[in-house]
Amino acid sequence: MQPHLLSVDELSRDDIERILGRAESFAEVSGREIKKVPTLRGRTVINLFYEASTRTQSSFELAAKRLSADLITLKAAGSAVDKGESLKDTVQTLSAYDPAAIIIRSPHAGAAGLVARWTSAAVINAGDGKHEHPTQALLDLFTLKRRAGSLEGLRVWIVGDVLHSRVARSNILAFTRMGCEVTVCGPPTLIPRGIESLGCEVRYTLDELSSADVVYALRMQRERMSGSFVPSLREYAACYQIDGRRLGPSQLLMHPGPVNRGVELAAEVIDSPQALIAEQVESGIVVRMAVLYELLAGRGAPNGARAGAETEPQPA
Ligand code: ASP
Repeated sequence: MQPHLLSVDELSRDDIERILGRAESFAEVSGREIKKVPTLRGRTVINLFYEASTRTQSSFELAAKRLSADLITLKAAGSAVDKGESLKDTVQTLSAYDPAAIIIRSPHAGAAGLVARWTSAAVINAGDGKHEHPTQALLDLFTLKRRAGSLEGLRVWIVGDVLHSRVARSNILAFTRMGCEVTVCGPPTLIPRGIESLGCEVRYTLDELSSADVVYALRMQRERMSGSFVPSLREYAACYQIDGRRLGPSQLLMHPGPVNRGVELAAEVIDSPQALIAEQVESGIVVRMAVLYELLAGRGAPNGARAGAETEPQPA
């Protein structure tokens, strides 16, 4: 595994399995009253968020704290970025604190890869524009595996705004790598040309949705749309909204959040027992702990950083 986590593409099936296994052991720690382990004591983790986030930012914060790291969270608003400081200067400034890891969320595709060139810290991509969101894919695999038992052969339909979705890209790669059969579905204007090359099938209607074991709905990413991709949200919902009529009783439902209620999902399915949405959020902490562990103390860590670290988590 690379010293950074920039894309699912660079993870082998073994890497993914190791991270999911590690997340299981952190899930056990999360069940304890004291949810903290000393693994990253004395190491510094920087959360650098240039774009809005609720789940990703808070779960990375909790993950770093539960591993006993010293944590700084910086948001673009209120930082020197407001005064015109460039990403490169910001990263070089923060690198003076000798961080072990920088977690970066940016509206620009490729930003995490650039940060990795400017710092000696391990860089974790927490979402870069339309490109990738690898920890989302890992937490989705973890959540689904826990509920379904096995990922092998599961038929997953990813429905909605695939064009603007970094989650779709990361999840197509992650689900297929773990042996799932992936189909993407949405209006032709929201399905990127050539997406099949990632190993998925494409459908433009929900007619065959009943063949799915798992329906993974995506948010309409209006902040990334420069023009009009669908006639109206109402018409989009009429053709692609997942509601109680379209979701079969044995199908599972996932969504990365935040959900536009009444657009991609109807209220009755969000609150149904088939929905894994709350479990996805919960998994975010232990999977991000596992990623930090892997990069800073486990197999992905540079030699030396790992000394004495390959032990099971102990309470702090
Ligand atoms: N939270 C996810 C992301 O940051 C999905 C979304 O925003 O729709 O990409």
